[in-house]
Amino acid sequence: MNYPYSEAELRQQLCDIGRMMYERGFIGAADGNLAARIDDERLLVTPAGVLKGFMTPDMLVVTDLDGNALDGGRPSTEIKMHVALLQARPDVSAALHAHPPYTVSFSLAGIPLTRCVIPEIVVTIGNVPTVPYATPGTEELPDSLREPIKKSDVLLLERHGIVTVADEIWNCFKLLDMVEHAAKITHLAMQLGGAKVLDREQVEKLVQSRYDLGIGQRNTLADDAAVRASCSLPLRRG
Ligand SMILES: [Zn+2]
Repeated sequence: MNYPYSEAELRQQLCDIGRMMYERGFIGAADGNLAARIDDERLLVTPAGVLKGFMTPDMLVVTDLDGNALDGGRPSTEIKMHVALLQARPDVSAALHAHPPYTVSFSLAGIPLTRCVIPEIVVTIGNVPTVPYATPGTEELPDSLREPIKKSDVLLLERHGIVTVADEIWNCFKLLDMVEHAAKITHLAMQLGGAKVLDREQVEKLVQSRYDLGIGQRNTLADDAAVRASCSLPLRRG
């Protein structure tokens, strides 16, 4: 794997993204956590119990690939989730976890984010699968993500939050921002009487346009006709 950033650069990036997540309302208090590969043997992760909107570069924790601190620091309580994500996806360099309110509210209401509503989301990431509820801070949670993350760069964790993985931490943030913005628009449309989904033909054309536009990132709709078909079902509970 290629590591384009120095450890010092990564430390600054994680602080910048922690602040952005807080300012954009994607996390509250000490919520959320971030992890990035420094090299083939070490991860840089956010510390436990810290307000992510107010981190400084010296507060971040260096761990081995199993999440054991190498510098005496106390890594995130969700470190095992990040370890599981990065183990399952050797092709990515970074992982992010947050509690974006519009996205999570869909999960609380039992409305899936797998329906195709916003064309830009269909073209780029496809749709957002929901992983069934697992107790935060336990082994249940990392175990529940190992297989689903192989098929999607973004997962909605039922009643909890979102995880994203990408080639660098800024792109993890980009996915979070895109999904939360789409959830917000969908939520507003539902207040106005209902968000209409794209029909099957529109979805097929959008997925095809990925190839024409040269968009190469992972897309949950690209290789799965059954998922494409179900994404045009009406937007409702269950
Ligand atoms: Zn969480």
